Amino acid sequence: MERTVFEPEHEMFRESVRAFLQREAVPHIARWEEAGVVDRELFTAAGAAGFLGMDLPEEHGGGGVRDFRYNAIIGEEVQLAGLGGAGLGITLHNDICIPYFRDLTTEEQTARWLPGIASGELVTAVAMTEPGIGSDLASLTTTAVPDGDHYVVNGAKTFITNGINADLVITAVTTDPSQRHRGISLLVVERGMEGFTRGRNLEKIGLHSQDTAELSFVDVRVPRENLLGTEGGGFGHLMTNLAQERLSIAVAGVAAARAALEWTVAYVRERTAFGQTIGSFQNTRFELATLATEVEVGQTFVDHCVTALNAGTLTAEDAAMAKWWCTELQGRAVDVGVQLHGGYGFMAEYPIARAYADARVTRIYGGTTEIMKEIIGRSLRL
Ligand SMILES: Cc1cc2nc3c(=O)[nH]c(=O)nc-3n(C[C@H](O)[C@H](O)[C@H](O)COP(=O)(O)OP(=O)(O)OC[C@H]3O[C@@H](n4cnc5c(N)ncnc54)[C@H](O)[C@@H]3O)c2cc1C
Repeated sequence: MERTVFEPEHEMFRESVRAFLQREAVPHIARWEEAGVVDRELFTAAGAAGFLGMDLPEEHGGGGVRDFRYNAIIGEEVQLAGLGGAGLGITLHNDICIPYFRDLTTEEQTARWLPGIASGELVTAVAMTEPGIGSDLASLTTTAVPDGDHYVVNGAKTFITNGINADLVITAVTTDPSQRHRGISLLVVERGMEGFTRGRNLEKIGLHSQDTAELSFVDVRVPRENLLGTEGGGFGHLMTNLAQERLSIAVAGVAAARAALEWTVAYVRERTAFGQTIGSFQNTRFELATLATEVEVGQTFVDHCVTALNAGTLTAEDAAMAKWWCTELQGRAVDVGVQLHGGYGFMAEYPIARAYADARVTRIYGGTTEIMKEIIGRSLRL
């Protein structure tokens, strides 16, 4: 179906993103998958090309346009190019971390951080999850105790995307453990601060080129000037930004499903068995017809959510619906894709195989499918 959400300038942007990924990422993907991390130069190259911080002010190196359609295009093209792992660092930086810096920084912080964030010299991450808590964010235990002009931070985070490459880590801490969610604050912990160390680059079953790490904080003295937003307001800041985070994951989910469909259609047109193409079997046609339908349905909903986000009307429930449904679709699509590729679908050199492994986590990170249904269920006042 024709998508009506984009204007001609978005299509031009898409062409540039596509060419950029073919030039700067596709030739390196095998090496990055092996290394477990992308080159930092991917960020500076993206910054130089205008693909970071499109919504940051121009005077700080951003694009000066607040329009999530640009973010969505990058997220889609990453998936269509088979770069789910390698591209995640950039989409996390743009879609998930930048809004905190765009909306919450003081004038001094803006001048200190935004130019580097837009150029890719400062890579960002957001650290909420701890070894003992994930879904139940209000129970986090990393503490930040005020001490003069500083906070003293102690605790540990895990599963942090961009964990190795990040220079600025938006760290969710409790500044008042007696208050649960009302005691949560956001501190920007910077590369090189004494007592801030990175643990392992975690070994995962997919997203191999994405650096996902453990972070440790032992008596880290973080200046008060690194508080993002208000003390005790961290939970609210997180909730405000989670809708866009979830939409970003949904956008990628539908695009990943579309990519799986396209690769599989191409494959079954060529591959033969019993003297006919795999695509000519009724089972293949039914499976792919189902997927093609679901991709269109999902795309329509996601595009509607993108429009709502731009208009400021996307609700937490809408974002939760998009997130769980589109990532579950992604899971079905890569599974059907692998099946119809036969044994080749299990071979790492085939994009569908990598997409299969990369897809599994999207139903977990950014809030699990179950938590998304909890959010939607609560709104039904059952
Ligand atoms: C590759 C990867 C990248 C990640 N990147 C980041 C990052 O950059 N920053 C960050 O902060 N975190 C990140 N995460 C963490 C991720 O967001 C969490 O793993 C996720 O929120 C789930 O938390 P958990 O792992 O503690 O699972 P748990 O909360 O322990 O959940 C375990 C199971 O119980 C279910 N469950 C929990 N509560 C309920 C409930 N109330 N009702 C029904 N079922 C429930 C869950 O749905 C799940 O199936 C990442 C994780 C991975 C794997």
